[in-house]
Amino acid sequence: MRNIIGKSVQGRDLVVHANFPLDVSPAAVSRNSTLLIGGTHGDERATVAILDNFHADWIDSGKLAEPVAILSLHNPDGYAADTRYNGRGVDLNRNFGHQWSPDADEPPGPMALSEPENRALHAFILAHRPAKIISLHWALSELDADGPQSAGLAARMWQSLTGEERRPYRLSAPKPAASICANPSYCAGSLGQWCGNGLLYPDGNRPAMVTLELPYHAHVHDRPETLPADHLDSVRELWRASPETYLEGVQGPVHRMLAAAIAWQHPWPVPGSGSQA
Ligand SMILES: [Zn+2]
Repeated sequence: MRNIIGKSVQGRDLVVHANFPLDVSPAAVSRNSTLLIGGTHGDERATVAILDNFHADWIDSGKLAEPVAILSLHNPDGYAADTRYNGRGVDLNRNFGHQWSPDADEPPGPMALSEPENRALHAFILAHRPAKIISLHWALSELDADGPQSAGLAARMWQSLTGEERRPYRLSAPKPAASICANPSYCAGSLGQWCGNGLLYPDGNRPAMVTLELPYHAHVHDRPETLPADHLDSVRELWRASPETYLEGVQGPVHRMLAAAIAWQHPWPVPGSGSQA
């Protein structure tokens, strides 16, 4: 089912595809639903294509029974202009409400949730309370879990890959709450920070949140400890030359990670949530 959850700055539709009716009460459907998000940065083209293909190949085909919602293009204005930012130059991944900062490393907007794309996504998440949220980006080549409740989800995704398929990635340990934002300008106002550490549903639960950073090359063998400085340029160049080449090397394992995440059961209530400040 196709649902328009809002409009971009320039009036483009924000479209969520779901394999379950979004108009029923959240408690009935959302206990283990998964939300997949791509295209937060409009120039990270593969994140959109991989989710659109996942929708076609895995959801429309009825391969997955569990509830899934997909926002494959969070930033349609940025996508149209092939830029990281939205239609008024704001980085949507610095504009959410947890530790939003005017001094972020990218333009965060005049205040938290100033951008219509983020207000729409924020309202959607609060209304439907996905148990798991996975956001795709280029190209740090890692699985990044936000919040202690997310470690199991990231581990399950990692386990779904063969040893060979893991080589381009790194599994990043969830950051303990105390050390979050040791470098505050970097993660201030990100979607992952809000979903993994800021967001609390009315029943006291938090979703599991994983940022899936795609590889910077379709055929990178082992992820180096430090990424090449030009990793974003190289993935864009490769994409411009041949999207098929990139997708051929990357998409299959990503789709399997997503399917594994969708099947993973969130262990509500969140372990440790009673003892952590
Ligand atoms: Zn990104």
